[in-house]
Amino acid sequence: MSSDQPKKEISAIKGTHDILPEEARLWQLAEARAREIFELYGYRELRAPVIEPTELFEKGTGASSDIVTKEMYTFVDKGGRSVTLRPEYTPSVVRAIIEHRLDLQSQPLRYYYMGPMFRYDRPQKGRYRQFHQIDIEVFGEKDPAVDAEIVEMAHRLLARLGVEDVLTLVNSVGCKKCRPAYGQELRQAALAARDKLCPDCQRKAEVNPLRIFDCKNEVCRQVASGFPLIIDFLCAECRDHFHKFREYLDLYGIEYRVEPTLVRGLDYYTKTAFEIVAEHLGAQNAICGGGRYDDMVREFGGPDLCGIGFAMGLERLLSVARIQVPKDSFVYFAYLGDQAKKESLRLARVLRSEGIECLVEFRDRGMKAHFSRANKLGADWVLIIGEDELKKGKYQLKDMVNSRQFEGSALELAGIIKGKKILEIG
Ligand code: ATP
Ligand code: MG
Repeated sequence: MSSDQPKKEISAIKGTHDILPEEARLWQLAEARAREIFELYGYRELRAPVIEPTELFEKGTGASSDIVTKEMYTFVDKGGRSVTLRPEYTPSVVRAIIEHRLDLQSQPLRYYYMGPMFRYDRPQKGRYRQFHQIDIEVFGEKDPAVDAEIVEMAHRLLARLGVEDVLTLVNSVGCKKCRPAYGQELRQAALAARDKLCPDCQRKAEVNPLRIFDCKNEVCRQVASGFPLIIDFLCAECRDHFHKFREYLDLYGIEYRVEPTLVRGLDYYTKTAFEIVAEHLGAQNAICGGGRYDDMVREFGGPDLCGIGFAMGLERLLSVARIQVPKDSFVYFAYLGDQAKKESLRLARVLRSEGIECLVEFRDRGMKAHFSRANKLGADWVLIIGEDELKKGKYQLKDMVNSRQFEGSALELAGIIKGKKILEIG
């Protein structure tokens, strides 16, 4: 490009956003609490790549799901392979289990992960093209107690993040044994009501009528409310599983509502499906969605390993979280002259080794200017190094919060700063 052409600003791709440092602090805190809680239940992190072969999602997420039909970021790479920026995490974990024979380890396998997902959807509040999920997966546990465990764990995290007024919706979507009979009845009902449905749902009526329940169109919702419900078709095993799942939720004191039209937007669910919604979030109110997928690993050609999990949307979660980020506490170095500057740089190294955040600015200033700068930046401590201090090898430390002053060697002062930190944290 020739240099006299007007420069056009480059901005972030539509539906993606930067998380700037102040906001990133909130993300770090939420992620740290999630990590801490999941590890308490024995979950361990499993990190998979952001790009995967396209067929992984076509097969895993399901050919008739909204994600695969409309929302995937798919492109052909330089080697002529079709790759996709992952729209969800579960298929990647299933791939990893089969690829690394993780099923040979003692079960259940409990995994968690946090990271970006990509869906080419219409961007709006609470809906982005790059968004972030906290994801949980358990493999090899049939007991409905684990279904309740992950719901309880999600609730614990929400409570730790100060999220209030959530509603937990639960349902059972049946299994291979009971779904076919239900599917037939549902298709008949959907085809009979075809003319009233949106074009998308008319197509779903043919391909996968269950998906009509996900449609956000009011008219379709109205029509679907008259359709037969899976809950009335459950086989004895699915009924029993659903019953026990709810008993365990009661044991934990988790309130929930049975929502017979909750089927979730992915094709692979069996038995348990659930969603946690924040009632005041408006249209995009689902914070967390999850369920069981007992056939998925086998359908990928892996062993017979049942699975269950959930995904929480971090953007939506943070929009309702009430967390306070602790104020950063750091030492500002107020030095006079070149010799003192060098001593500051040396001392900062010592203090940082003690885990103390230090800020040594490189511009020459008078003492007054140093203090006003320290105030402006919000320093908790100012370490003063002038000629006297240099001579003595002892420094002045000013506590900017409580207006106290100390004198001591670097290590003595480090002790004071750390002691206060410990007192504050309790
Ligand atoms: P929705 O019905 O809102 O489209 P979904 O069923 O597609 O949600 P899941 O695939 O279950 O969502 O993903 C789990 C969670 O991830 C959602 O509950 C939501 O919090 C979040 N999420 C999903 N899609 C987006 C998006 N495009 N932008 C931001 N968050 C999202
Ligand atoms: Mg969606």
